[in-house]
Amino acid sequence: MSVTAENVNHDAIVIGGGIGGLAFAALAGGVLGKKILIVEKNAAVGKDGEISWKHVRPMTSYKGEIFAFPRGLEGRIPQDQFTRLMSLMREMVQMDNAASRKLDDVDLRTYVTGKGVTDPLALSCINNITMVYVCVPDYRSSTGEFIRCLREEARSRASGYPAGGCSAVSEALADGIRKNGGDILTKSEVTGIIVENGRAQGVRSKNAAHRAPIVVSNADGRRTLLDLLPEGTLPEDTRRHVEGMTYSYSMLIVRMALKHRVTDHRLITHIANFDPRKNEEDLLAGKFPDEVNLFMPVPSNFSPECAPEGRQLLTAGVWVPYGAPDMERLEEIVVHTAGRILPGLEEAIMWRHVTTPENLHRMVGENGAIIGLGQSVGQVGKNRLSVETAVPGLYLCGAESGGTGVGIELAIDSAYELLDRLGKKDASWQLPGTPVL
Ligand SMILES: Cc1cc2nc3c(=O)[nH]c(=O)nc-3n(C[C@H](O)[C@H](O)[C@H](O)COP(=O)(O)OP(=O)(O)OC[C@H]3O[C@@H](n4cnc5c(N)ncnc54)[C@H](O)[C@@H]3O)c2cc1C
Repeated sequence: MSVTAENVNHDAIVIGGGIGGLAFAALAGGVLGKKILIVEKNAAVGKDGEISWKHVRPMTSYKGEIFAFPRGLEGRIPQDQFTRLMSLMREMVQMDNAASRKLDDVDLRTYVTGKGVTDPLALSCINNITMVYVCVPDYRSSTGEFIRCLREEARSRASGYPAGGCSAVSEALADGIRKNGGDILTKSEVTGIIVENGRAQGVRSKNAAHRAPIVVSNADGRRTLLDLLPEGTLPEDTRRHVEGMTYSYSMLIVRMALKHRVTDHRLITHIANFDPRKNEEDLLAGKFPDEVNLFMPVPSNFSPECAPEGRQLLTAGVWVPYGAPDMERLEEIVVHTAGRILPGLEEAIMWRHVTTPENLHRMVGENGAIIGLGQSVGQVGKNRLSVETAVPGLYLCGAESGGTGVGIELAIDSAYELLDRLGKKDASWQLPGTPVL
């Protein structure tokens, strides 16, 4: 069906078809029978089929060796440091929510060193893990959030990737939404939120206006509140808090198609330097070292349809703060670093494709941030953007508001939190099995 301002009659409008927006729409449409309109600025996706999850065992690379964290550090760091590290890891995975919440505003480096783990390699391994989880370096990332991510990963005994890549999640959700009568408008950028009588009443795009009693923004939370709302709508203290919020790191990503397999590993993180603060300063100043920290999933090793038989698809990404210059030079360093970790890789490259922070910014905004507004000290717990805004009828949903956890899980958790909030206000929005308290 084609959707126009004249024929729309929806229970809620969702700005943006990211994972959080799609999850909210899929649950509201599929479980509650609500009619949802998604207005998405890019072209959206959809295909049949369930998601199949592949187990990925992350490995750490350091100085030519590849090992599993944390046990692989035994013999590589002093024994007393290894003992402290193992005890800290146990303490963290056993910590309950209430205790972890008390650590929301403690930065991870302070917490870990305070527990007596000071060995530079052990600290760098932990920094790399928090970069994978929340894309914020340890001296800024929230300990509470790190612990919740670590605990969930330990409980599920796996890191998992969907077969076909992360887009398989959005494809499955979009398909479910359409099947349940939801509408997805693509190539429609929302340029403003309609607020009348102090309440959000709909959205405006370049050529149309759409109205519904509930507006959920899955777009950049900062931009939603600062730019999409009419001036003067947001209370001043909220505006100041939101203006001060910062994004997680972006990434320079190089995908390489290889003539033949160069590794059996599914995911490697590489440690090249021990000082995340200096690393950030150097990247922003364009002072690139010969080797960089890397995040290297090998998609064809867990999702064989990504490459023809005998070939390999490998991705190497370096976390970069938005604004770092000279991405062409950094791309070469990424490829050389990957080649040092996996000998023969550079000779096996048939083609490569690069995605820069600027490309990501153009696609989804948010300064190309991998997670959006970072799960940093001062931006989680009570300081995190709530799914409910100060403007009645306007809600947020996605990786930047509510929820807890890593990336995609965080965005989906936020969708559940929003439905929980709506269900408490109006029984028709209540998911079965979640009684109103
Ligand atoms: C390269 C990369 C790799 C990643 N790898 C992983 C991973 O391995 N595991 C993991 O868990 N997470 C990963 N993440 C993070 C994860 O993808 C995000 O945390 C999650 O997808 C965020 O979802 P979201 O709901 O916040 O929506 P977003 O992804 O932020 O999407 C927001 C949507 O809103 C749309 N939009 C924005 N403004 C407007 C507007 N004005 N009008 C209309 N539409 C608008 C955008 O086009 C976009 O589709 C990765 C992210 C990136 C970029």
